[in-house]
Amino acid sequence: MMTSNIAESLKAALKAARNLPIDILFELLRSLVQKWVWNNSNNANGTFTKVATPTKNELRHDIVLKMKYDVLPFNPIEYQVRDEKGINFTVNIHNKTCTCNRFQEDEMPCGHAVAVIA
Ligand SMILES: [Zn+2]
Repeated sequence: MMTSNIAESLKAALKAARNLPIDILFELLRSLVQKWVWNNSNNANGTFTKVATPTKNELRHDIVLKMKYDVLPFNPIEYQVRDEKGINFTVNIHNKTCTCNRFQEDEMPCGHAVAVIA
Protein backbone atom coordinates (compact mmCIF):
# COMPACT_ATOMS: atom_id res chain seq x y z
CA MET A 1 0.00 0.00 0.00
CA MET A 2 1.42 3.37 -1.03
CA THR A 3 0.60 6.50 0.90
CA SER A 4 2.12 9.95 0.81
CA ASN A 5 3.93 9.12 4.06
CA ILE A 6 7.01 6.92 3.46
CA ALA A 7 6.96 5.58 7.03
CA GLU A 8 3.37 4.42 6.65
CA SER A 9 4.18 2.85 3.26
CA LEU A 10 7.13 0.94 4.75
CA LYS A 11 5.11 -0.13 7.77
CA ALA A 12 2.33 -1.47 5.52
CA ALA A 13 4.76 -3.20 3.16
CA LEU A 14 6.71 -4.88 5.97
CA LYS A 15 3.76 -5.97 8.08
CA ALA A 16 4.03 -9.56 6.85
CA ALA A 17 7.85 -9.59 7.06
CA ARG A 18 8.21 -8.54 10.71
CA ASN A 19 9.16 -12.00 11.94
CA LEU A 20 11.89 -12.60 9.34
CA PRO A 21 15.57 -12.71 10.35
CA ILE A 22 17.14 -9.25 10.41
CA ASP A 23 19.43 -9.80 7.39
CA ILE A 24 16.53 -10.91 5.20
CA LEU A 25 14.39 -8.05 6.51
CA PHE A 26 17.10 -5.50 5.60
CA GLU A 27 17.52 -7.03 2.13
CA LEU A 28 13.74 -6.87 1.64
CA LEU A 29 13.76 -3.23 2.76
CA ARG A 30 16.68 -2.36 0.49
CA SER A 31 15.13 -3.95 -2.59
CA LEU A 32 11.73 -2.43 -1.79
CA VAL A 33 13.15 1.10 -1.58
CA GLN A 34 15.23 0.46 -4.71
CA LYS A 35 12.07 -0.54 -6.63
CA TRP A 36 10.19 2.51 -5.36
CA VAL A 37 13.01 4.85 -6.35
CA TRP A 38 13.18 3.30 -9.82
CA ASN A 39 9.41 3.41 -10.35
CA ASN A 40 9.08 6.95 -9.01
CA SER A 41 12.03 8.09 -11.10
CA ASN A 42 10.43 6.67 -14.25
CA ASN A 43 7.08 8.20 -13.39
CA ALA A 44 8.67 11.58 -12.69
CA ASN A 45 10.79 11.60 -15.82
CA GLY A 46 8.11 10.13 -18.06
CA THR A 47 10.85 8.40 -20.04
CA PHE A 48 9.83 4.82 -19.48
CA THR A 49 8.88 3.20 -22.76
CA LYS A 50 8.37 -0.40 -23.71
CA VAL A 51 10.09 -1.46 -26.89
CA ALA A 52 8.66 -4.37 -28.84
CA THR A 53 11.14 -7.23 -28.89
CA PRO A 54 12.26 -7.99 -32.44
CA THR A 55 11.71 -11.57 -33.53
CA LYS A 56 15.42 -12.39 -33.74
CA ASN A 57 15.85 -11.41 -30.09
CA GLU A 58 12.96 -13.52 -28.82
CA LEU A 59 15.14 -16.60 -28.55
CA ARG A 60 17.79 -14.68 -26.60
CA HIS A 61 15.05 -13.29 -24.37
CA ASP A 62 13.74 -16.82 -23.72
CA ILE A 63 17.25 -18.01 -22.83
CA VAL A 64 17.65 -15.14 -20.38
CA LEU A 65 14.31 -15.96 -18.79
CA LYS A 66 15.41 -19.57 -18.37
CA MET A 67 18.53 -18.32 -16.57
CA LYS A 68 16.15 -17.10 -13.88
CA TYR A 69 18.04 -13.86 -13.37
CA ASP A 70 16.26 -11.19 -11.42
CA VAL A 71 17.10 -7.76 -12.82
CA LEU A 72 16.52 -4.69 -10.67
CA PRO A 73 17.64 -1.26 -11.88
CA PHE A 74 19.56 1.14 -9.63
CA ASN A 75 19.30 3.84 -12.32
CA PRO A 76 19.16 3.86 -16.15
CA ILE A 77 22.77 2.59 -16.49
CA GLU A 78 23.35 0.43 -13.38
CA TYR A 79 21.43 -2.73 -12.61
CA GLN A 80 21.50 -5.40 -9.93
CA VAL A 81 21.25 -8.92 -11.33
CA ARG A 82 20.52 -11.77 -8.93
CA ASP A 83 21.28 -15.23 -10.26
CA GLU A 84 19.46 -18.45 -9.43
CA LYS A 85 21.83 -19.02 -6.48
CA GLY A 86 20.89 -15.65 -4.98
CA ILE A 87 24.25 -14.05 -5.76
CA ASN A 88 24.03 -10.38 -6.72
CA PHE A 89 26.02 -8.79 -9.53
CA THR A 90 26.11 -5.15 -10.56
CA VAL A 91 26.08 -4.40 -14.28
CA ASN A 92 27.00 -0.96 -15.60
CA ILE A 93 25.82 -0.79 -19.21
CA HIS A 94 27.53 2.57 -19.89
CA ASN A 95 30.99 1.43 -18.72
CA LYS A 96 30.41 -2.14 -19.98
CA THR A 97 31.32 -3.67 -16.64
CA CYS A 98 29.93 -6.37 -14.38
CA THR A 99 31.08 -7.38 -10.91
CA CYS A 100 31.64 -10.91 -12.27
CA ASN A 101 34.40 -9.25 -14.40
CA ARG A 102 33.56 -11.28 -17.53
CA PHE A 103 31.95 -8.31 -19.31
CA GLN A 104 35.12 -6.18 -19.11
CA GLU A 105 37.61 -9.06 -19.52
CA ASP A 106 35.90 -10.79 -22.47
CA GLU A 107 34.71 -7.48 -23.94
CA MET A 108 31.43 -9.24 -24.63
CA PRO A 109 28.28 -9.05 -22.50
CA CYS A 110 28.22 -11.70 -19.77
CA GLY A 111 24.94 -13.46 -18.94
CA HIS A 112 24.13 -10.77 -16.38
CA ALA A 113 24.57 -8.02 -18.97
CA VAL A 114 22.48 -9.97 -21.49
CA ALA A 115 19.73 -10.23 -18.87
CA VAL A 116 19.84 -6.45 -18.40
CA ILE A 117 19.84 -5.81 -22.16
CA ALA A 118 16.90 -8.19 -22.64
ZN1 LIG B 1 28.41 -10.63 -15.18
